[in-house]
Amino acid sequence: MPHCVASPCVRLDSPITALRGIGPTLAARLTPLGISRVEDLLFHLPSRYQDRRQLHAIGQLRPGQEAAVLGEILHIRPQSGRRPQWCVALGDDRGGVLRLRFFHWVGAMRSQWRPGRRLWCFGEVRGGAFGLEMVHPEWQLADGPDFCLPDRLTPFYPSVAGITQTHWRAWTDAALAQLDELVDPLAELLPAGWPSLKDSLYRLHRSEEGVPGDADPARQRLALDELTAHHLAMLRERRAQRHFSAPVLTAPGSYWERLRQALPFAPTAAQLRVIDEIRQDLGLSAPMRRLVQGDVGSGKTLVAVAALLQAVEAGYQVALMAPTEILARQLHHRLEDWLQPLDLRAGLLLGGISAKERRDLIGALASGELAVVCGTQALFQEGVEYARLGLVIIDEQHRFGVEQRRRLMAKGSMPHLLILTATPIPRTLAMTLYADLDLSIIDALPPGRTPVTTVVMPDTRRSELIARMRSVLAEGRQIYWVCPLIENSELLELQAAEDSYAELCHALPDIRIGLVHGRLPAEIKQQRMQDFVTGTTQILVATTVIEVGVDVPGASLMVIEHAERLGLSQLHQLRGRVGRGAEQSTCILLYRPPLSPRARQRLAVIRSSSDGFFIARKDLEMRGPGELLGVRQSGERTLRIADPIRDEALLEIVPDLGENLLRTQPEAAAVLIRRWLGGTVAYGDVG
Ligand code: ADP
Ligand code: MG
Repeated sequence: MPHCVASPCVRLDSPITALRGIGPTLAARLTPLGISRVEDLLFHLPSRYQDRRQLHAIGQLRPGQEAAVLGEILHIRPQSGRRPQWCVALGDDRGGVLRLRFFHWVGAMRSQWRPGRRLWCFGEVRGGAFGLEMVHPEWQLADGPDFCLPDRLTPFYPSVAGITQTHWRAWTDAALAQLDELVDPLAELLPAGWPSLKDSLYRLHRSEEGVPGDADPARQRLALDELTAHHLAMLRERRAQRHFSAPVLTAPGSYWERLRQALPFAPTAAQLRVIDEIRQDLGLSAPMRRLVQGDVGSGKTLVAVAALLQAVEAGYQVALMAPTEILARQLHHRLEDWLQPLDLRAGLLLGGISAKERRDLIGALASGELAVVCGTQALFQEGVEYARLGLVIIDEQHRFGVEQRRRLMAKGSMPHLLILTATPIPRTLAMTLYADLDLSIIDALPPGRTPVTTVVMPDTRRSELIARMRSVLAEGRQIYWVCPLIENSELLELQAAEDSYAELCHALPDIRIGLVHGRLPAEIKQQRMQDFVTGTTQILVATTVIEVGVDVPGASLMVIEHAERLGLSQLHQLRGRVGRGAEQSTCILLYRPPLSPRARQRLAVIRSSSDGFFIARKDLEMRGPGELLGVRQSGERTLRIADPIRDEALLEIVPDLGENLLRTQPEAAAVLIRRWLGGTVAYGDVG
């Protein structure tokens, strides 16, 4: 085992290259993991553990089990064949015999292994042709002087190519040896009963007890530190914003009044309240940073347009970003509809437009002649300048990279920022991890929406389904047919969509059917979406590309194939594509039997509720303990150990803790932020 011993001068704040064995090449591989100093290794936590301390009786092993066994070598037999190998029979004192198979017969095995010697092995038990076996287990001779059974859990670290678990264990050993140096700024501020950071880290890296679960005090202590660090970063960001000023966007509101008169519906009270909150923000010179959360279909676009009109009326430009070209076009289409009666025009800036179109558009933005532009990332590419950018609106923001948002923000002096999301944000989260943003919630759907009826159906009843589709089509309604991702393979997903498309064309020969998936060129994808929007096609077979934001009011039936494979929030998002008009809409969740208990539970939740908030909570509850530690995603912001929803109780104390720290040890805030968020923190990042 290569040992990486720390040289005496290694300290927690030394660069990792101070550790023997880590040169520039390995250091470069560690950089993306946020590891540049020895201390960072401490916060690189195991994602799982193995318990190798228990010895298992060979007679009681079962295939699939990972187990440690101790026995005597009964015989060693080389075997020739297509692949030469060595078989070792290991017998324990209770009479069990296990076969060990090796394809490489190396050094110490060749020279030291003899019948009669005692051997400790750890590996996965498999059913072989001659009974249970292990292939290339880890081993130690158990009758030698060096033998010791592991007395702790064996940790496994998240890793990257070229770095083995042996490396990680040696490096973390070296870092743990310096634990006494670790500063623990929160220790004095926490009530009695909390373990120290030092003990907690030791336990998570080298537990002598059981596997630390979610509720383990050590894990909780680290989660608390992590959440506090993120909170502090957000507070710092909020304070930094005070040094900037944004254009004051006040206007009498005549554009908005005219749009309101022309709308075929009245805005809801919830929409009006949020519009008012935004109006006040825009009238201040402090840059607005507002997140509007509203369930799928709650009418966030209208709220965004009200803000847009205020900015335009005040003489400024507005950029609206959507996560995909399809959505950008759709947003643009909707804007044109609403803006035309006001004699306003909106540009559309996408990756695929012609050079001339692009030149013209960019010219109009730079001169200030064009007030409104809609698009994707192309909006903030090199070369796009704005004469008077006053407001940036980001739709369905969780799909956007932090970097992209920042680049856009750099386009104006300091524009106001409005972010729209359908992802529910609990109050505690808003106050802590989103402390740099103000939150508005559209908490009611427009009236007159008939709730979507959700039906769960085995895919063996397809013929019945086709009959039902016929009657929907006969009423002039349209249908979405969604084929979800299969085992993360875009190619297989594509195949599934093509198969379903062929099957539907065959079953419904007189119906016009379109197909969209991620592999199509943008123009074709767009054309086919457009055909569905205009009613030229009656059924749209699609992969999950339609998940967010697409609006086709004529569609009243959605069929989701393999619904058992999708998560709750994804099902909720997809279902939100229907039920946008007053007609009764239906979502049919097709599944392939048999259903696992978890999948059955998920489908039951989605059938019984249409409340995004409730569904998000259930989603969390059902995900279960899962992987205990490791990298967790909260939107784009990566939390290493905390889960903002599961650890909600911790979030309750974070604001006070953060405030106390800033008051008593202001310089410690930077230590915590550096420790958990790294050197290049993306402030203003929302998840
Ligand atoms: P989301 O919040 O999911 O982005 P949209 O803004 O796309 O929702 O709105 C969904 C649909 O509801 C659109 O067709 C929109 O025109 C319509 N809508 C928005 N506000 C209202 C309202 N107050 N009353 C009726 N329909 C509305
Ligand atoms: Mg939307």
